Amino acid sequence: QVKERGKGHYRFYQPEMNADLLGRIQMDHAMRQGLQRGEFELHYQPRVDLRSGTVPACEALVRWHRPGQGLVMPGTFIGVAEETGLIALLGHWVLQNAIAQAARWAAEGRPLQVAVNVSALQFQQARFVQDVADALQQHRLPPHLLELELTESILIRDAEEALGKLQALADLGVELSLDDFGTGYSSLTYLKRFPLHRLKIDRSFLVSMPEDGADAAIVAAIVQMGHALSMEVVAEGVERPEQLQRLHALGCDHYQGFLFARPMPADALRTRLASPDGKPAQTPPP
Ligand code: C2E
Ligand code: MG
Ligand code: MG
Ligand code: MG
Repeated sequence: QVKERGKGHYRFYQPEMNADLLGRIQMDHAMRQGLQRGEFELHYQPRVDLRSGTVPACEALVRWHRPGQGLVMPGTFIGVAEETGLIALLGHWVLQNAIAQAARWAAEGRPLQVAVNVSALQFQQARFVQDVADALQQHRLPPHLLELELTESILIRDAEEALGKLQALADLGVELSLDDFGTGYSSLTYLKRFPLHRLKIDRSFLVSMPEDGADAAIVAAIVQMGHALSMEVVAEGVERPEQLQRLHALGCDHYQGFLFARPMPADALRTRLASPDGKPAQTPPP
C-alpha cells in the first residue's frame, strides 16, 4: 500500500506505525496508572566537587517499576510522555518528590542540593514558576537546595519568555543549569543573558577524552567559556580515571559519572555519603 504524501513523496504504509502508536497510547495509559499506584521512583546520582572531593549536590533521575518489566529507564518513556503531554503530570510528580527528599536531607542535617530535569512542555506551562515556588514553600526547602536542569532547546524556543521565567526562578533563589551543553544550538548571546549558574558538558564530549584531541579541546573551551561567564562547569558521564585527571587539569569544577557512583535510591545515597569520605575505594586522588 502506498499513500501519497505530497508532490513526489510517497510513504509506505507500515503496520509498525500503528503498532507504534498503539504502543505509545498503551504506555501513556500505563504511566498514568503507574503514577497513581506509586510505581515511579527517583534515583539520585551524586555530583562531586573536583577540587575538594565533596558532594555538594545530586541529580534526581526518574525510574519506573513497571509491573512485569522490572526497572524501566527514562530513555524509554520520557519521550512518550513528552509526546502525549503526560510529562506535565510526571514532571510535577518529580519536582514534588525531589523537593520533599531534599527537605528531608536538610532536616536531617545533611543538606544536599537536588537537581531536577525539566522538560520543555513543563517549562512552557504558565504556572511553572508558581509551581516551583509553591513546592519550595510547602516543603520549607531553602531555594538554593534546588537546581533546575534545562536544555538549550527550551531556552531558544521563545528566548524572551524563557528569560523572564529564568529570572523569576533565579529571584526565588533556585539555581539553574544548562544540561547536555554542546549538543544544542545555544547562541553565546543567550548564554550571557540567561541567569545560569552552571553548564553541564554533554557526556558525548567526554567519552573519548583525553585520547581524542578534538573532544579534549572542546571540553577545555567550554570550561574556559563557562568560567569567563561566571558559571561553574560540570562534566557528565565520567567513567575513567584518565577523564577525571584531564578534567582536573582543565579546571573543571564538578563531575558526575559511574566512576564515582551510579544513580541510586535516596537511602543508598545517604548511606554512601555517610561513609568516611563518601568516596568509593577506586576513586583516584585528583
Ligand atoms: P541527563 O539529564 O543528561 O542525565 C544523565 C544521564 O546519564 C542519566 O541517565 C545517568 O544515569 C547517565 N549517566 C550518568 N553517569 C554516567 C556514566 O558515567 N556513564 C553513562 N553511560 N551514563 C551515565 P538516565 O537516568 O537514563 O536518564 C536519561 C535522560 O532522561 C536524562 O539525561 C534526562 O534527559 C532524562 N530524564 C531523567 N529523569 C528525568 C526527569 O525526572 N524528568 C525529565 N524531564 N527528564 C528526565
Ligand atoms: Mg540532567
Ligand atoms: Mg545531561
Ligand atoms: Mg538530558
